[in-house]
Amino acid sequence: MRRIAIINQKGGVGKTTTAVNLAAALADCQQRVLLVDMDPQAHATLHLGMPADAKQPTIYDVLIGETSLTEAAQRAGEHLWVVGSHIDLAAAEVELAGVVGRELILRDRLAAMEEASQTFDYVLVDCPPSLGVLTLNALAAVDEVLLPMQPHFLALHGMSKLLDTIKLVATRLNPRLKLSGVVYCMYDAGTRLAAEVTRDVDEFFAQSRDARTPWAQVQTFQTRVRRNIRLAEAPSFGKSIFSYAPDSNGADDYRRLAEELRAVAGEQ
Ligand code: ADP
Ligand code: MG
Repeated sequence: MRRIAIINQKGGVGKTTTAVNLAAALADCQQRVLLVDMDPQAHATLHLGMPADAKQPTIYDVLIGETSLTEAAQRAGEHLWVVGSHIDLAAAEVELAGVVGRELILRDRLAAMEEASQTFDYVLVDCPPSLGVLTLNALAAVDEVLLPMQPHFLALHGMSKLLDTIKLVATRLNPRLKLSGVVYCMYDAGTRLAAEVTRDVDEFFAQSRDARTPWAQVQTFQTRVRRNIRLAEAPSFGKSIFSYAPDSNGADDYRRLAEELRAVAGEQ
């Protein structure tokens, strides 16, 4: 079971778009995929057209209550399941404030799921744009971090804080944690800015290559997700890009990203 958190503390960089469409692309390759929506904004849940049913347990019930991940998982496709989110999750930070081991709840719930032989090929976690208790739960529960980035002139701004957090979690909570990939989203091919930013980011990681950091092995994905209006339209139809516009550039890019991700693990 490959566990991957999709993290960037900045909003609007393409985390949710990547989480949803990568999950759908992997599921299309007959991989069993569980997408966990850890953002109180519930954008991934809405993007996949999951009904907002008051009786349906969400990740809030998993983190705060006794609900298992399997009980909260809803089917979103032939090989795709989603643990939805809810605005109530915004209160989790406060509700968990006094709870010992509050960063380890998702990890333990995933372990319980595996012990019950309910396994997936991939667990993807879509994170909120912050480095609070929800993101810490994701980092403590996964083996890999996927970092979506917009080739923007402030792309590297705040990166050291994110890397410090990853390092701290790797040291204290989860020694297996690795930053495995950077993926550029909303890429405008042919612009000087995009070329300059990607060069700066590559240099930044090249310079900080150090066997003792969790990002020593980081790869920049060859696939760059181009800016594509279909990707921005799909959420309002409650569909992944593959149901909404299977012939679009957006669908091609996420299909290729999924292939690249699978190849990293030597599956192909
Ligand atoms: P995050 O989860 O990091 O906040 P989102 O995935 O929600 O970011 O993306 C922010 C906005 O940009 C959304 O409206 C989304 O539909 C749009 N978007 C994301 N990726 C692309 C893309 N490659 N081309 C065009 N629009 C995109
Ligand atoms: Mg999001």
